Amino acid sequence: MGNEPEKIIELVNVSKIYRMGNEKIYAVDNVSFDIKKGEFCCLLGTSGSGKSTLLNLMAGIEKATSGKIIIKGKNIPKMNENSLARFRQRHLGFVFQAYNLINSMTALENVEFPLVFKRVPGKKRRKLAKEMLVKVGLGSRLAHKPKEMSGGQQQRVGIARAFVAMPEIVFADEPTGNLDTKTTIEVMELIKQMARDNNQTIVMVTHDRSLAAYADKIIHILDGKIQSVEVTDRDAGEDMQEHLKEVSQRLLLDRGGDAVTINRNAE
Ligand code: ADP
Ligand code: MG
Repeated sequence: MGNEPEKIIELVNVSKIYRMGNEKIYAVDNVSFDIKKGEFCCLLGTSGSGKSTLLNLMAGIEKATSGKIIIKGKNIPKMNENSLARFRQRHLGFVFQAYNLINSMTALENVEFPLVFKRVPGKKRRKLAKEMLVKVGLGSRLAHKPKEMSGGQQQRVGIARAFVAMPEIVFADEPTGNLDTKTTIEVMELIKQMARDNNQTIVMVTHDRSLAAYADKIIHILDGKIQSVEVTDRDAGEDMQEHLKEVSQRLLLDRGGDAVTINRNAE
């Protein structure tokens, strides 16, 4: 047995309860799992199952009602706003379904933005942002504003912005939700490649089963609870991994039960 990869994210009995008048909504209901450094993890579930809430809890955008969320050794719900903001700038990147670019800024300025917070000097900032935009295939669109680009191009800018500061973890909430099939594949390949190149950890929310084929680990969510966890073996080599992905994709498409569930988290 080799060295176990470091657990970069660990959730222990995490719940988020929303109160609506007299009603309690268990958006996240006593969830525990971990994600290892360099893993591509997918939170998969239907609309309303609690995926975005779970992601927002991990990112510290919302506060858990109970439980521990340890990221890089820090318990996120216990952190104050200032340290959380610094933690986010230092370690986290975000990709959004609606791209969330700043409309008055060019592609280059949007990608520079996270580096401003990190106090990277202007010249270096522009160099890094430009390199990143070249990497995502937008070297000829540096001066374009979001409205002057297609959805796919805007999401490439979004990806460049998420990765430019080399965060160890990138959270993505339905990053291809507004894109057509061909652009979806391009964007997914890009995210996978970026993460692979720098051993970055990806936590991606989706309702689309076919996208889960990109993941090393698939966490199935239903009604705020974990239904099952699927793991594909990273050390199996590229060929085997491709094969496993094909098989799991096929099984996912026509399965009724949990044939590919290796590691089941019984509630
Ligand atoms: P998903 O991202 O899987 O579609 P969400 O995490 O957005 O699901 O929502 C999970 C559940 O929590 C839903 O029933 C939703 O209506 C509820 N919910 C989400 N945010 C709030 C909120 N701010 N106040 C009350 N209920 C919420
Ligand atoms: Mg959502």
